[in-house]
Amino acid sequence: EINRLNTNTRKILGLELKKVKYIRTLGFIQGTTINLLRNCVIVFLIYLVFRNEIAFGDYMLFFMYSFFIFNPLQEFGNIIQLYRETEVSLTNFKQLMEQPAEEIPANPVKIGPIKEMEFSSVSFKHLTSTRHALKNVSFKIKTGETIAFVGPSGSGKTTLVKLLVGLYKPAEGNILYNGHAYTQIDINELRAQLGFVTQDSQLFSGTIKENLLFVKPDATDDECMTALNRAACHSLLNRADKGLDTLIGEGGIKVSGGEKQRISIARALLRHPNLLVFDEATSALDSLTEEEISETIRTLSNSQEHITVLIAHRLSTIMHANTIYVFEKGGIIEYGTHEQLVNNKGLYYAMWRQQVGETIEILKNH
Ligand code: ADP
Ligand code: MG
Repeated sequence: EINRLNTNTRKILGLELKKVKYIRTLGFIQGTTINLLRNCVIVFLIYLVFRNEIAFGDYMLFFMYSFFIFNPLQEFGNIIQLYRETEVSLTNFKQLMEQPAEEIPANPVKIGPIKEMEFSSVSFKHLTSTRHALKNVSFKIKTGETIAFVGPSGSGKTTLVKLLVGLYKPAEGNILYNGHAYTQIDINELRAQLGFVTQDSQLFSGTIKENLLFVKPDATDDECMTALNRAACHSLLNRADKGLDTLIGEGGIKVSGGEKQRISIARALLRHPNLLVFDEATSALDSLTEEEISETIRTLSNSQEHITVLIAHRLSTIMHANTIYVFEKGGIIEYGTHEQLVNNKGLYYAMWRQQVGETIEILKNH
């Protein structure tokens, strides 16, 4: 690492020296030329004064004017340097601004609050990948229901929720929200109703409150506190001496991975979303906290007010779901309730046995 750093530093130093050389050369040539020119003009004017072609007053006048012409010329080098340096940033900025904007249909159908959602034979392939991340996936879900996706890492669960929230477009098949195809609706209307907690959630440096208000700028302090309590943030709040106005991150209290995850769960809950998506949101937490948050999720799903989509590795977190879909290599290989799947003796049963087995092992050791 030190060698790599040194190599890079030397490279920068080399370029910087090259730049200074250029600028100095340019400055020298430019300064000399301009001074020479100016002196020639003055000599010529003095010559004219001696020949009585112009008066001394005219000479002084020219002399004064020459300041206004030659001084700006002297700035020329600086302008070139500034221009070249800014050009780099401007090119980057231009590239960014030239990214095609997300397509929104000209006359989008208003979908209203999301009540049902359907995937019909959806397939998807990542641009850089050779094989399909999802193959022929179909399912349907209504308000009040909870569905869960389980399966090994890389089986396409995250890809599926990204399709669901409109971050990707399906290659084949259709996604319907309240019966309208994804191509007909303004996807932002859907996103405004969404609470999405991802595997790797991001917080901004700022206060706890600022991080929460990000999704709902008009939320009151009470609403924030309720959301935080529902997301099991007690320990964090106990440490926060200024309450909601406590800074997190640099210069404030440091939050652990689990606490970060809990704040992002609070952030998702604050919005009272119609569609709640948890993508391995509790995997970074210890099992007791996970249980606490799962309890919150269960209460939420039981309130029958929204659609809940869960992805989790610990099967105890998702066993209450109305339907559990088991993924393998981008396809649904089995689905049903927890009891049905356990009776099926398929992949789910194998995963369940292993996790229950671990628990029994732990109990034995104590
Ligand atoms: P899971 O969440 O079930 O662990 P993912 O949906 O993240 O799985 O990934 C499914 C498959 O898609 C994997 O084989 C992965 O390598 C591939 N994949 C995921 N994201 C990308 C990407 N941005 N580009 C190319 N391939 C990807
Ligand atoms: Mg994933």
